Amino acid sequence: MVTEYKNAITGYKHEPFTDFTIEENKHLFEEALTFVNSQLGKPYPLVIGGERITTDENTVSINPANRKEVIGTVSKANKELAEQAMQTALSTFNTWKKHDPEERANILFRAADIIRRRKHEFSGYLVKEAGKPWKEADADTAEAIDFLVYYARQMMKLKDGSPVESREGEMNKFNYIPLGVGVIISPFNFPLAIMAGTVAAAVVTGNTVLLKPSDHTPVVAAKFVEVMEEAGLPHGVINYIPGSGEEIGDYLVDHPKTRFISFTGSREVGCRIYERAAKVQSGQIWLKRVIAEMGGKDTVVVDKDADVELAASSIVYSAFGFSGQKCSAGSRAVVHEDIYNEVLEKAVVLTKALAMGNPEDVNTYMGPVIGQASYNKIMKYIGIGKEEGRLMTGGEGDDSKGYFIQPTIIADVDEKARLMQEEIFGPVVAFCKARDFDHMMEIANNTEYGLTGALLSNTAEHIERAEEEFHVGNLYFNRGCTGAIVGYHPFGGFNMSGTDSKAGGPDYLIMHMQAKTTSTTI
Ligand code: NAP
Repeated sequence: MVTEYKNAITGYKHEPFTDFTIEENKHLFEEALTFVNSQLGKPYPLVIGGERITTDENTVSINPANRKEVIGTVSKANKELAEQAMQTALSTFNTWKKHDPEERANILFRAADIIRRRKHEFSGYLVKEAGKPWKEADADTAEAIDFLVYYARQMMKLKDGSPVESREGEMNKFNYIPLGVGVIISPFNFPLAIMAGTVAAAVVTGNTVLLKPSDHTPVVAAKFVEVMEEAGLPHGVINYIPGSGEEIGDYLVDHPKTRFISFTGSREVGCRIYERAAKVQSGQIWLKRVIAEMGGKDTVVVDKDADVELAASSIVYSAFGFSGQKCSAGSRAVVHEDIYNEVLEKAVVLTKALAMGNPEDVNTYMGPVIGQASYNKIMKYIGIGKEEGRLMTGGEGDDSKGYFIQPTIIADVDEKARLMQEEIFGPVVAFCKARDFDHMMEIANNTEYGLTGALLSNTAEHIERAEEEFHVGNLYFNRGCTGAIVGYHPFGGFNMSGTDSKAGGPDYLIMHMQAKTTSTTI
């Protein structure tokens, strides 16, 4: 048994964040950025069964802070290559499913070690390809390490199944076995953590996968696939097939040999996948399992007796971290009318002080949004917001070089207004006034989503009520609504936020397996 496992059973702790006020850390990060800058523009082939395949058609991955800068040129899978990857994953499944679960877990531990050693390099790619400021990039990389370690540890717990009763003359067992080939479809906003987490959970449980990362961030995914190979993962377990969501996404979702789909992304695409996956195709002998983690319209609720400083900062940092491009972003502030003006004023002051600009600069709090389509959509919502409410700060965008939008606060928005109901996925927060606590809970639950939420309150009775009434998958008290940590805050939402799979939680791996009961007469 290797040391990683021995260490693993002594207790799980999440990966610490880097303190960039320490000069040495800052220096190391700058060095990593210099290295990443020296690697820009490289070609990245598909990886199917360990074979590198270069295609004529490419995705050119660009820096959203400077669209002239090419991060990498990434080969693009079409249906034929997706089929080749499927056949490879199917044949590899026959051997991988028999691999010792402990060894599968050890591959994840080793991958975590490799990323930990090259932490700033990975964060550097996140700065360049996703436009993440240093702290956000560092948190993304830390989360990827956490997923690898946590799921490896969980697999060690599940490898011998769960105890069931036996009786005289009969010995019973209850074990988990893998499902088959999974299609992993990941979003741009946690290009390392979510992509790595969803892949790691699927492979550690004995499945083989086809990985289709976001078209915006395929280079980060390619780097992760290299790490998994270095960690000892056999060829064909992960098949890296970036390509058009619509073309190969639909093809793989519909494929009769697809056993499960692990999707994280928008409500629109998630619902499409869910619906298509439900249709039993000719030759298909199972019902596909779908894990779909989707959007949010998350609320920070501020009670009458809340600490106003804490309330303002919780709203601002939940709304504008990574330019509001988090499914957990607090895009609605619901504030008791007695302290509404005070909280709003403080939030405006804090927002005006946020440093916006190139994410390569250590002092930047907020960088660009991911691309032109996002930019256009967010600017459209700002226009709607100006009609639905009162623009307090921000409101301007500049896409001349990269995709920059000012952090924007719109006040006095009606609880049913579009700005209060629709996911914008950008640096925009709507303020809405509430009469009393009943009204706050009513507004908090009035969208079709149910992902995260926060309540700032010093009334024990209200905190108790919110625990029961605030219908979200991740609820936080007296803090912001972003920043879930693997193993501490299992993550996933209710209603149209998805299947509530609770990534980074104790039930997550089981969704990638099926349980088998065996009963032996003795
Ligand atoms: P997206 O546009 O839905 O894309 C997600 C993934 O789906 C991408 O890889 C995309 O590929 C692919 N895709 C597009 N069309 C497809 C199709 N027809 N079939 C199969 N796959 C298809 O989402 P995004 O803009 O990357 O990410 C932002 C969204 O993700 C937000 O709504 C956010 O709330 C949500 N999110 C949720 C969670 C959560 O845990 N609940 C976490 C993170 C993000 P292309 O890039 O090639 O189009």
